[in-house]
Amino acid sequence: MSENFEAKTLDSLINMPLATIDIKDDCGITDVPQINSKRSNESEWIKSDEVKKRKRKLKDYQPNYFLSIPITNREITGGIKILQNAIIQQDKRLAKAMVTDGSFHITLLVMQLLTEDEVNIGIDALLELKPFVEEILQGKHLILPFQGIDTFGNQVGFVKLAEGDHINTLLEIAETAKYIFQEKGILAGENRSFKPHLTFMKLSKAPWLRKNGIKKIDPELYEKFINHRFGEEMLYRIDLCSMLKKKQNNGYYHCDSSIVIGKKPVGIQDLINEALQRERMGLKSKVKEIKELLLKPETQAKIRRELFEGRLNNYGNKANDGDFSATLT
Ligand code: AMP
Repeated sequence: MSENFEAKTLDSLINMPLATIDIKDDCGITDVPQINSKRSNESEWIKSDEVKKRKRKLKDYQPNYFLSIPITNREITGGIKILQNAIIQQDKRLAKAMVTDGSFHITLLVMQLLTEDEVNIGIDALLELKPFVEEILQGKHLILPFQGIDTFGNQVGFVKLAEGDHINTLLEIAETAKYIFQEKGILAGENRSFKPHLTFMKLSKAPWLRKNGIKKIDPELYEKFINHRFGEEMLYRIDLCSMLKKKQNNGYYHCDSSIVIGKKPVGIQDLINEALQRERMGLKSKVKEIKELLLKPETQAKIRRELFEGRLNNYGNKANDGDFSATLT
């Protein structure tokens, strides 16, 4: 990352709403000034009001969107299918805990986007991220080699990234994304550190398993794959996806926007999608401008005046033509 960016990052981190906040901690606001009980002027009241609002917002923080790196290399997804089948053969009930084909991904960042406007800000932020990712990559491809298995607390089973520099690069991209999204006022990130992982199963997908005595993913289930090399994926796209909206027919998440990274091997469809998204964004912001303009009292007064004058002229013309049915209602 450039020195310029680092300086800007540091500068903004100091002022950034989430930079020092533990988002999972209900009372975790640590970067706000202590409120003096003897405050007297209005600006202090406003500040305390903002603090309260921010606290409430953080308390309600529930990510519903995420940045996803799709994992589509057939060698990897095929290997995961073999792994999943091997586990299911040992316990058929676990079939319901498996991540379905088409939705394999690495989560780069989670965030909360509650309104259409917030989604638009997210789309904007993703586009802004692209040149930074390209700067981090310095014209090189980011190759992600997957090897071995691990779990989060025996609840989430995932394929690991093999050790190497690519992990630091990915962390840098994730940090930059977090910074860009937070700087736009989006609640984004988690209080735990980012650990890249490719989830293939999670018990939370089938809560009834717990009631049936399956409380943990037994390491024996995947021991044959503990050091298995699953293959490599090149970072070629980052998507802004919804966690909750209906998935696409191909099994992948609903995406509101994508950026394509690097020049090759990008399909024509990726380029078309990116161009369409830019168009859509431009249109959305124009529509927003028009809506705002229409809501202004002076615009509404002007429209009413022009409509009235138009009707008056119409009435005048029709009256001249002998049509007396024209009214001013
Ligand atoms: P994902 O593959 O990103 O959908 O993540 C699968 C699950 O792993 C989600 O339920 C996450 O909450 C959980 N998870 C992600 N990162 C971590 C982490 N660092 N520690 C524990 N759980 C995590």
